[in-house]
Amino acid sequence: MPRKKKFSSAAIMDANSPLYQSNLLDNADDWRRFCDSLHKTSVPLQWDCGQGKTGVRTPVVPVFLPFRGCPVRCVFCAQDVQTGLADANPLPGTAAQAVPQVSTGIGQVLNEARQKLRHRHDAGHPPAELAFYGGTFTALPESELAACLDLAREALEQGWISSFRCSTRPDRVDAPTLLRLRSAGCGVVELGVQSFNDSALAVSRRGYTGATALAACATVRAAGLKLGVQLLPGMPGHNPQHFAHDVPTALAAGAHMLRFYPCLVLEGTGLAAMWREGSYKPWPLEATLDALAQGWLAAIRAGVPVIRMGLAPEPGLAQAILAGPVDGELGGRVKGRALLLAVREALQAPDLRLKFLPECGFALRLPRAMQGFFLGAGGELRPAWAALGLRAVSFEEESKPQILLVAA
Ligand code: SF4
Repeated sequence: MPRKKKFSSAAIMDANSPLYQSNLLDNADDWRRFCDSLHKTSVPLQWDCGQGKTGVRTPVVPVFLPFRGCPVRCVFCAQDVQTGLADANPLPGTAAQAVPQVSTGIGQVLNEARQKLRHRHDAGHPPAELAFYGGTFTALPESELAACLDLAREALEQGWISSFRCSTRPDRVDAPTLLRLRSAGCGVVELGVQSFNDSALAVSRRGYTGATALAACATVRAAGLKLGVQLLPGMPGHNPQHFAHDVPTALAAGAHMLRFYPCLVLEGTGLAAMWREGSYKPWPLEATLDALAQGWLAAIRAGVPVIRMGLAPEPGLAQAILAGPVDGELGGRVKGRALLLAVREALQAPDLRLKFLPECGFALRLPRAMQGFFLGAGGELRPAWAALGLRAVSFEEESKPQILLVAA
């Protein structure tokens, strides 16, 4: 006979308690017995846990072109360290200054990409997606843009890639260039919008307005391309209320995917100087996590994936970070908070509030994929879950997220 478990809200506070163990591990009989005795109402949670997964993911082969085509060097930007190519910085240590168009070097970068794609193909790997990152792709000098598109066409013809994507600035897109990209096999254009808020854009000296960014989103969509929107919560002049508007604005503009890059102070940028003189303060980590959780939730409710949160850990990046909300577990911590937020909001919704008996608490049935972030980092969300009334949780392979309640 299996040992009878005791279920209580206090148990969720303790990782070694019988409840926690019985439900986080694979004791399905205990879980079923508990649910049979407890729940009479099962409420689906609006959470598309499969977001961002479209079957087999196409591998990405990036080509980094740091600062290429950029009309200015933005105060927060250190594409050299962000892309792990510190040697490629054409203007080390300068900020907010026009970048000369350097014509040397791109041939070598493209040749390396060509070799890599060919080797992947020869080794029997499936076609990849080529990605031109790190600069303003649509403002590359004509010879460089043509060289990139030639590589993309060749790679498509050879079956090395299925498509390519690029990143650029909102004030450097126009319909003819986008159509040219599309006819060369481009599938996605990612816009480094950063924010749609005019005052934040002005303080950050981005050189365009929210209206420009919205028009750029529309131009990308009109060209038949998928739209990616990159946001930079915490850039100079930007606050969490701005970000809370930025995400729905990007979604309403038709974004197919988002990236959230919390603003960090990186050595060698204009922001580093502002931070040293005290005119810029990065967002605290806690405020950033909360803001990102709201943004993440808004995105998944719209069925739009957030394909990246935080800078990729390229070589040299950690040493270049002077300040800011950096966290190796950023994504998991954000998703944990977003889940907590989603459940809290669901319990407070008028129809559920009538059914929810706080003295009975509630249980959660979640897909196994949520187990990794449900409690945040080191169980940090355990007290919040307990305070909300969570009594038990089950993780099951094929389950859709559900709240289980005792009927009122
Ligand atoms: S933020 Fe974009 S436009 Fe500005 S310097 Fe970096 S890559 Fe260039």
